[in-house]
Amino acid sequence: TQPIEGTSIMPAESKYPPITIPHVGLWDFLFESERDFPDDRVIFVDPDAKKNLTYANVKQSASDFGKGLRALWDWKKGDVLGVYSPNCIDTPSITWGCHFAGGVVSPANPGYTVDELAFQLKDSGARALVTQVPQLEIAIQACREVGIPEDQIIVMGERDKTGTFKHWSSIRNISGATRYRRAKVDPANDLAFLVYSSGTTGKPKGVMLTHRNIVANTLQITAGEAPLSGSPHDGYPEGDSVLAFLPFFHIYGLTVVLHQSFYRGIKTVVMPKFEIEAWCRIIQEHKITFAYVVPPVVLLLSKHPCVSKYDLSSLRMMNSGAAPLTRELVDAVYARIRVPVKQGYGLSETSPTTHTQPWEDWEKTIGSVGTMLPNQTAKYMSPEEKEVPTGEVGELWIKGPNVFKGYLNNVEGTKNALTEDGYFKTGDVGYQDQKGNFFITDRVKELIKYKGFQVPPAELEGLLLSHPSIDDVAVLGIYKEDQATEVPLAYVKPRGTTASPQLEKEIQDWLAKKVANHKRLRGGVRFTDEIPKSASGKILRRLLKIKYQEDEEKA
Ligand code: AMP
Repeated sequence: TQPIEGTSIMPAESKYPPITIPHVGLWDFLFESERDFPDDRVIFVDPDAKKNLTYANVKQSASDFGKGLRALWDWKKGDVLGVYSPNCIDTPSITWGCHFAGGVVSPANPGYTVDELAFQLKDSGARALVTQVPQLEIAIQACREVGIPEDQIIVMGERDKTGTFKHWSSIRNISGATRYRRAKVDPANDLAFLVYSSGTTGKPKGVMLTHRNIVANTLQITAGEAPLSGSPHDGYPEGDSVLAFLPFFHIYGLTVVLHQSFYRGIKTVVMPKFEIEAWCRIIQEHKITFAYVVPPVVLLLSKHPCVSKYDLSSLRMMNSGAAPLTRELVDAVYARIRVPVKQGYGLSETSPTTHTQPWEDWEKTIGSVGTMLPNQTAKYMSPEEKEVPTGEVGELWIKGPNVFKGYLNNVEGTKNALTEDGYFKTGDVGYQDQKGNFFITDRVKELIKYKGFQVPPAELEGLLLSHPSIDDVAVLGIYKEDQATEVPLAYVKPRGTTASPQLEKEIQDWLAKKVANHKRLRGGVRFTDEIPKSASGKILRRLLKIKYQEDEEKA
């Protein structure tokens, strides 16, 4: 690396030795490269249906599905397949089957309303949608809205009893499909996924992740978790397993849990939905050794009475990500169940993981998001976009093979997020200590995270402005220690009415009908005479945060 222009400051480099990232698409990476575990190793387990899938099962059904897509609909390179479903052991085969056919997968939150789903389907240009029976009604309406024909809605999991919708297994058995070969992809340019993130500002945008991004990040994460298996490519020691409750539609579940576990041949017990007692029961029954979690789960493990009823001693380590984790939580969980929790950090735009605490460091560097994974460089920047010296606080910028290609159909957003020399501006603020441990202390971007899920304030503000009693509005994230998460709170300037507890409730209920559960105004509604704005009309969120703190102190 070169010093930053005009300074003697060097960008931070990873402490890991560089890794070789093969120039292959995801299909070749997962199914055609060398492996040191057998084809008949059970990888996915559905604990309720008591169904198992081996590596060979997944490969077969994925390639059959990919061939079926090509035979049935002449699926082309770059065609987008929407997936709107809770975690299911069929999701991986459908995902990689789409890649086999050269397609791009755009996974959506199964809690989305019709409008939210329709937005993503339209924006991503999805050609078809995979869903499950409980999500069908919303899926049908959203597809109707964006013009996806009903016969391009595919069901996985349980069959649709009316027989109206194709089950994905029927696509695997289309006659004449066997002649189709897998599509050739250009790993550095062709997209594997379109996930949605609001980035630093505005509404959700399609994050273009290439095959190379996901291949790279899977290997980077593997390097960071290496002590788990001795060496990155040894596969897991006999008996190791992961509990996959983090949703596969979010980049954390998608790459870290799904791709990394599969690549390394780790048995992955798939949970469709988080519930603390079921989580503990599955850990005990399946002797799970590793779990990827988020801070609110760590909180539950430290407090919930049911945790004491189960034997969780098989767990060797947990990794928390997607939101900040406090020392108090790590200590409380360790004191209660003797399981260490390390921390990682990343974003949709970085595929996601850029940092993680090495296993052996979990206790030494609690509060840190760890060291930077290989093949990346990072720097911390002042608001004037000048690099700050090591140890000083700034906005984190990152460069590496896991950095996304840009936002879909959004030149302006891409230009604001990526520099010409390839750095991605994370919108997160923090610093690096002299030993190379990174700390995230704040955010300069608007984003709110509820239990690890994105709540873009601009999206809620846009909706709230259409409420007849709202003249102006700004949405803020408020940290609730007792829930270990931020919650969204709205400051509202009322129109033609006076502020009242009834109006607060009415606004909360009104919004709740329009958005997914995680975007509800759990922080409440507060009334104000004016929303502070800059001369250009931008909401001055910092001022509102100060106002909120002052209000709290007065209360
Ligand atoms: P997403 O794209 O949904 O994964 O959200 C990425 C954002 O989550 C980051 O920009 C951070 O603001 C936040 N985040 C993720 N991991 C951490 C962490 N360990 N500590 C603090 N914030 C985090």
